[in-house]
Amino acid sequence: MDKADILIAGAALNGLAAAVALAGPKALRPLDILILDQADPTKYARDTFDGRASAITASSRRMLDALGVWEAILPHAQPMRDIIITDSKLGATARPALLHFGEEDHGGEPSAHMVENRHLYGALLDAALASPTVRFRTDTRIASYSFGPGFVSIGTEAGDIAKASLLIAADGRASPARKAAGIATSGWSYDQTGIVTTVAHERPHNGRAEEHFLPSGPFAILPLPNNRSSLVWTERSDDARRIIALDDQAFLAELSRRFGGHLGEIEVVGPRHAYPLSMQIAQSFTAERLALIGDAAHVVHPIAGLGFNLGLRDVAALAESIAEAVKLGLDPGSASVLETYARWRRFDTVITAMATDGLTRLFSNDNPALRALRGVGLRAAGSVGALKGFFMREAAGETGHVPKLLRGEAV
Ligand SMILES: Cc1cc2nc3c(=O)[nH]c(=O)nc-3n(C[C@H](O)[C@H](O)[C@H](O)COP(=O)(O)OP(=O)(O)OC[C@H]3O[C@@H](n4cnc5c(N)ncnc54)[C@H](O)[C@@H]3O)c2cc1C
Repeated sequence: MDKADILIAGAALNGLAAAVALAGPKALRPLDILILDQADPTKYARDTFDGRASAITASSRRMLDALGVWEAILPHAQPMRDIIITDSKLGATARPALLHFGEEDHGGEPSAHMVENRHLYGALLDAALASPTVRFRTDTRIASYSFGPGFVSIGTEAGDIAKASLLIAADGRASPARKAAGIATSGWSYDQTGIVTTVAHERPHNGRAEEHFLPSGPFAILPLPNNRSSLVWTERSDDARRIIALDDQAFLAELSRRFGGHLGEIEVVGPRHAYPLSMQIAQSFTAERLALIGDAAHVVHPIAGLGFNLGLRDVAALAESIAEAVKLGLDPGSASVLETYARWRRFDTVITAMATDGLTRLFSNDNPALRALRGVGLRAAGSVGALKGFFMREAAGETGHVPKLLRGEAV
């Protein structure tokens, strides 16, 4: 039987971030970690695997810096200098901005950096692999779980058994660990699919991100280095299936109708991926000897690009709760550590998920009455201010009691 202080189920973005926070180059008291994944995480660092890019907010950037991985990510990061949000009809030639954010709204700093997920995986994986106290068990599914009292143990399909004080479940939206612990979820499907791809364009984006609220949902053009942009193109799920199946020429034609001509000629330069969109929150973020993080705990619509940022906030709060216990010689998987973590994350998660859901419902709708209301309502100074305030607080990560890692301090 393998023993560790902490087991992590899932070696994707959130699982790797947790391993680096607890045992990476900057961890003050590195713990003994065993991280498991049914896949081989080295494949995650290829763009054919995921195709997504993430908007890394200022607080997440500070955290990645405090984890010692931002330096490796920086050459691949595109500062987002400017964001415009429009409410347009499909094929409209003029798209007046409903809302505009510039660096002046963020203390002269970029509101976020766009980074392709493959570079985030690569930097986090390298830091985890370099740690003498992180071990990997990959290409084998965790098939059995036994929770407490006193310890948690898991069994893999390959026949390995491992035991630890705590299991951190970073095993995604379907989280088998969450199900094994009997934790239910609340939420709904949006009957929308996010089509993700990368385009190259003739003219520079100058760091501008655009979010066009089209009748079927948001169409986001997110700046990447080298005159490229990552697209998150939301469609009703049956339309998305049709679009994804188109040949290259027809796909480009559909895309161009939504993209507009402002960046000159465009060319699709990345694979196409389709993600069904839903909102889901676990009814509890913890159980005996178990903590849920990332998509295992919550899934939100990508309308505000917050999913992974929320996961990093989980990692920061959990790592600090564990570090405080370890400093006092206490058990890192005890009920008091888990209670501290759950209390810390629950409120922020629910508030962010609800705000994201409200935005999605308000904007993914072509009802003429709602469209008129959006125009009038959002142009009224108070609403613009409230919406701006939401985006700015989320970007800064300044909601509630901010964990040390998000302030750029080591734990
Ligand atoms: C279209 C789209 C755009 C997005 N854009 C942004 C953005 O701009 N900014 C942002 O912050 N977020 C964004 N997100 C959200 C973000 O991508 C996710 O929140 C994040 O990738 C979730 O990572 P995770 O590590 O929690 O889970 P996952 O990536 O789902 O990883 C789960 C891991 O667990 C492993 N696993 C599962 N079951 C088992 C088992 N039984 N045994 C062993 N291993 C197992 C899997 O193999 C996998 O590696 C976006 C999401 C979508 C869909």
